[in-house]
Amino acid sequence: MSRFRLRFEKIKDKYDCIVVGAGPAGLTAALYLARFNIDTVIVSKDIGGKMAVAPLVDDYPGISEVPGVKLVELFTNHVKKYGVPMIIGEAVVDVVKEGDMWCIETEGGRKLCAYAVILAIGVEKRKLGVPGEDKFIGRGVSYCAVCDGMFFKDKVVAVVGGGDSAFSSALYLSTIARKVYLIHRREIFKAMPYYIEKAKKNPKIEIITNTVITEILGDKKVSKIKVKNTITKEEKILDVDGVFIEIGSEPPKQFLKSIGLELDENGYIAVNPDMSTNLPGIFACGDIAGGRYKYRFEQIITAAAEGAIAAKSVYEYIIKVKQSENNSLK
Ligand code: NAP
Repeated sequence: MSRFRLRFEKIKDKYDCIVVGAGPAGLTAALYLARFNIDTVIVSKDIGGKMAVAPLVDDYPGISEVPGVKLVELFTNHVKKYGVPMIIGEAVVDVVKEGDMWCIETEGGRKLCAYAVILAIGVEKRKLGVPGEDKFIGRGVSYCAVCDGMFFKDKVVAVVGGGDSAFSSALYLSTIARKVYLIHRREIFKAMPYYIEKAKKNPKIEIITNTVITEILGDKKVSKIKVKNTITKEEKILDVDGVFIEIGSEPPKQFLKSIGLELDENGYIAVNPDMSTNLPGIFACGDIAGGRYKYRFEQIITAAAEGAIAAKSVYEYIIKVKQSENNSLK
């Protein structure tokens, strides 16, 4: 991952609000906070989150088709217009309460404090957990078609998964590779019908259902996968040069628990309708937010909407905190 920083002003050690994460939720939260005149900084390990690796975004209203990276640029430029400082390339490893402030620490040892923190950190890619997966990461095994697709020009690749990520990756890879297997463990797909129809019509994509990968094989790099039909139990070997794993994501449960956040049964942060959490001053939005009030529909537009709501809630929270600080000074 590239370690770069975007700085539009000197970084201070205290802000009104720290936004952790710079995907559509975090960037939108920062944009709205700036418009509410809340002194805000963004701290994130990367910029764009999942949006940055979307091959093509064709469902964001008003922009009929745009590569994910371009949409990230549009979001970022919009935030930039308001002069919000951004520290990109530093993952946040700790969030602790100190007096009336929340302080974050980054992996590089940087410490920043604020009255409120918005966690918009997204989720981590799920691993397949089969022999050969770890051994061949970067040597044929990939979790990002946009990042690594070009290494497979005119080659044969397999994509694992049955959701939107697997289908959009397969469609993208079909523009580069000679052949794309889309391997899914069930007959039914989670992906949107629009993607499924497009993939079915694509002569370069072969969809294999009721099938799991049991092993990834090769010498120095991937050359084959062992697959098993879950119904007939028949096993066979497919010759492939690459395997793209797109089987969903999981929240970083240990990190969230270490902060003291209440999580839902799947490990996502339990948020109230206003994106507040069980910890006053900590808010969450986007893919990391969950709980009984959350209707899970992971889209750029829903993440952005939650970011805007979180910003409004932080604005109201900070007004109250500052009012009570002023009263206690009287
Ligand atoms: P997802 O919707 O959770 O789909 C994950 C897929 O991987 C499922 O088909 C699942 O199978 C399969 N899977 C999970 N664990 C597996 C395992 N151990 N072995 C084999 N297969 C496994 O994840 P996603 O596709 O990454 O999408 C995440 C969210 O982002 C979704 O809400 C999606 O709509 C959204 N998204 C939207 C777009 C878009 O709108 N353009 C693009 C990308 C992603 P089962 O079906 O059997 O559970």
